[in-house]
Amino acid sequence: MVLTSLGRRINSAFADLSRAPQVDDATIEALLKSVCSALLESDVNVRLVSELRNSVRAEVKEGLNDKSKSSLQDGQRKALVQKAVFDHLVKLVDPTPGQEQWKPTKGKPNVVMFVGLQGSGKTTSVTKLGHHYAKRGFKVGLVCADTFRAGAFDQLKQNASKANIPFYGSYTETDPVVIAKQGVDSFKKNRFEVIIVDTSGRHRQEAELFEEMVEIADAVKPDMTIMVLDASIGQAAEEQSKAFKEAAGYGGIFVTKLDGHAKGGGAISAVAATHTPILYLGLGEHIADLEIFRPAPFISKLLGQGDLTGLMDKMEEVRTQNPERQKELMKKLEEGGKFTVRDWKEQLGNIMGMGPLSKIAGMIPGMGAMLGGGGGEGDEAANGKMKRMMYICDSMTKEELDSDGSLFYTPVGGKGKGKAKGKEASSSKSKQVAKVDEEGKSKEKKKAKQVKVRMTARARRVAQGSGTSVREVEEFLMQYRMVSKMVQSMGGLARFKQQTSGAG
Ligand code: GDP
Repeated sequence: MVLTSLGRRINSAFADLSRAPQVDDATIEALLKSVCSALLESDVNVRLVSELRNSVRAEVKEGLNDKSKSSLQDGQRKALVQKAVFDHLVKLVDPTPGQEQWKPTKGKPNVVMFVGLQGSGKTTSVTKLGHHYAKRGFKVGLVCADTFRAGAFDQLKQNASKANIPFYGSYTETDPVVIAKQGVDSFKKNRFEVIIVDTSGRHRQEAELFEEMVEIADAVKPDMTIMVLDASIGQAAEEQSKAFKEAAGYGGIFVTKLDGHAKGGGAISAVAATHTPILYLGLGEHIADLEIFRPAPFISKLLGQGDLTGLMDKMEEVRTQNPERQKELMKKLEEGGKFTVRDWKEQLGNIMGMGPLSKIAGMIPGMGAMLGGGGGEGDEAANGKMKRMMYICDSMTKEELDSDGSLFYTPVGGKGKGKAKGKEASSSKSKQVAKVDEEGKSKEKKKAKQVKVRMTARARRVAQGSGTSVREVEEFLMQYRMVSKMVQSMGGLARFKQQTSGAG
């Protein structure tokens, strides 16, 4: 997405901070200057940027002057500054701090009504949302109550058929309220769980748009009303989201076209400033280009640090596509089994089949950075990177794949679990270790060297076999560890599913 350049600029400001010899007022001001000018270029409102600057400055000063933290090392002081910037960026895009996001509930009809200006991406987003919940096991139906635009019903019909989602509409009825009511009633009668109503758009925001919204809402009593906002309007999103909030009382926003517009940061922060919940993001024209909006993971992905929650959402989608295999994995994890390198390989394979890869790759910690920014650097780059990850897996032995990766770090002759055996024991590197022994170096030095040798030997073998580099193998293992930690700490995908049932 175009926001990548914003992420890249903030990251480069962080890199300057890391290189600075010390953390003083000048370094902090330089960092703030770079971060703020990057935000302004993303069309974030000047007032919001200035507030962010003042809050970060105050928090950092307080943190660094705190007597209990006076013994902080330079690295810790830098981390404190980075964390303050991160936290305030999250605040900037968080419309409802501490509040739980709306999500449909399983087993009951959830009526969702869409409104928005013509061309904002409303019909596309209706299908995306339908597809999203259908993939997660909800019974979904779409209602076309857009009688304003010629061809609207055909468009929805075509999209819905492609996504294999039942739809309702009429070529003859001209009253949108009647169609909406009939469609919702019919889906309710047939026990549909997510019923999405697409309403007419207008060329510009006008009273008529909101009047019709209120009439249809009175007829179908939606559980959620969603306004679709095109990210390219940048700061102007504030006015639209305010008007919508006043007319709808309560509702959520779907920000579209974030893949194509540098002003995306401006649109999101402008909506956030009105405290209207942002529920979903549209990141492309493809039906799967939808993301649930979560402030902290959004910023994390923007900065190339991955979005594990988003990745878990995607894995959940795989679960429904491939139920037997995923069930086995869940059972194992529930029973306290390990999420092994092989499990990660399998998930990667599944994810690769889901496309669009550039968006998924950015969710894997470190991948965004590797692709050169805050994720989403094009499907080709992501595809290439993920293929290399698969080659790395293919070059691992059965023992390595079934491990938790720790045997890559086992020292020669060490007592750690998964002690390495086989080829490496007779490798030239092992001979070098023996030589180190002969030279009578100190015990500590010897140990350090041995650890390094063993890790490099195994990783080098895998790198050679897969046509990658040792560094890539280590990066792969680092990513696997982060994902595994998350999966394991959540007690497995099944428990994760229970926690988020309906959210993802
Ligand atoms: P509507 O008039 O509001 O119903 O808008 P449409 O759903 O017909 O979308 C208008 C155009 O925007 C179409 O060309 C869509 O493919 C495109 N579009 C919708 N959402 C996105 C998005 O998230 N990213 C991009 N790049 N294009 C989108």
